[in-house]
Amino acid sequence: MEFGNLSTDQVLDQFMQGFARRNPGEENFQQAVHELAADIVPFMMQHPKYRKMHLLERLTEPDRIITFRVNWVDDHGCIRTNRGYRVQHNNSIGPYKGGLRFHKDVKLDDLKFLAFEQTFKNSLTGLPMGGAKGGSDFNPKGKSDLEIMRFCQAFMTHLYRYIGPHTDVPAGDIGVGSREVSFLYGQFKRMTNELTPVLTGKDLAVGGSLIRMEATGYGAVYMAANMLEAKGESLAGKTAIVSGSGNVAVYASEKLIEKGAKVLTLSDSAGFIFDKDGIDSEKLEWIKELKFERRGRISEYVDQFPNAEYFEGERPWKIQADLAFPCATQNEIDEADAKQMIANGCQLVAEGANMPSNEAAIRVYQDARIMFAPAKAANAGGVAVSGLEMAQNSMRYHWSREEVDTKLQTIMADIHNRMVEYGTEGDYINYQKGANIAGFIKVADAMLALGVI
Ligand code: NDP
Repeated sequence: MEFGNLSTDQVLDQFMQGFARRNPGEENFQQAVHELAADIVPFMMQHPKYRKMHLLERLTEPDRIITFRVNWVDDHGCIRTNRGYRVQHNNSIGPYKGGLRFHKDVKLDDLKFLAFEQTFKNSLTGLPMGGAKGGSDFNPKGKSDLEIMRFCQAFMTHLYRYIGPHTDVPAGDIGVGSREVSFLYGQFKRMTNELTPVLTGKDLAVGGSLIRMEATGYGAVYMAANMLEAKGESLAGKTAIVSGSGNVAVYASEKLIEKGAKVLTLSDSAGFIFDKDGIDSEKLEWIKELKFERRGRISEYVDQFPNAEYFEGERPWKIQADLAFPCATQNEIDEADAKQMIANGCQLVAEGANMPSNEAAIRVYQDARIMFAPAKAANAGGVAVSGLEMAQNSMRYHWSREEVDTKLQTIMADIHNRMVEYGTEGDYINYQKGANIAGFIKVADAMLALGVI
């Protein structure tokens, strides 16, 4: 990319046109790259050492993409075929690291954007981890435990060649919790005859870390607490809308309740529930049993707690609240949703999910100058504790719940401080810009040091 006498906007347009040509039809990947490049291009124009080395082109091309067929046998004896993927995006600062997603709609576009985001998120944690993502279009909904196990075994039978504790360490994501990670780990052990810590998010019985399950949701709330504290405020007494009812949403809610905030909503892909009295700890325990044990639907909440309402086919963003925690999936908040949230007096958005706000929604937050923690910072707690799980496995030692939680809080506070350092614009903190630049610098410096490889 030549900068010549071009303006920042012209350089960005030229870069994005080339990027779109190289990645046709991959709208999520293009969106994630544009969000980062919009902050990095002006930064590179002021810093020639990055500009000259074509870092943006190099950083937006994954190191390697592996795709494979996954055959498995269902409970009726039928042979089923799915597609498996691993996108190894960048390993300049450490082994590839990033989750596996099992969802019927998974396509390469999603995994490329997620692996790209993961590279900068992992950099922000300060831990030595590169970026990757993987998964399959396998639909875990309605499958028996044995079907899930057979699928995980078939998936690992291909993947095991490409991963290793110093090469690539996958973890969970949508549709992949500690049950699936442990089945995957079991198959890796069977194939290699080694109990090498090659996955994180494992069950505690096989080397998982305390707080890993809670870490993404807790981390998003710690980030929000840091942002509020910077303004002399706190979570206590605030109302919050949360989307999703999986791992991230449930533990974000748990920490919000613990910090004295009132959680009003949760959702799944079929609709959302609104409990004007607030979802308290007791109700949340019921939800955990519903979602993690019975694998039920969030609509069942209103049968149990009749004061609540269920909105079929809708998302929770129209409910008035001080804080918003999108914790379900990508592009779940559009411009109209964001405008409605601002009109309702929302002061802070912390993204538990990956890329839940589209670019127009982010512009609405920034124009309204509310506090906005982008996913790569707000949900970095999960991978941070994955990094701590790797450290504990290497030491063959376990830290207590308190020790892991304290380290998680420190990491989230450090990320907050780095975003403030690079994102302060007068009296406004542009956390998105801060996260993009701080995440970029560490990876870019490592790439410069390693040479053109
Ligand atoms: P789970 O599978 O545990 O839960 C996902 C939740 O999101 C479910 O309630 C699901 O509803 C809902 N959901 C999924 N797809 C859609 C959709 N298309 N529209 C509306 N709702 C949807 O996943 P996690 O909680 O682990 O992950 C949630 C988000 O957080 C993802 O973006 C993930 O990448 C991100 N993340 C997760 C981390 C982790 O540690 N787990 C780490 C960092 C980010 P339903 O059951 O109906 O599908």
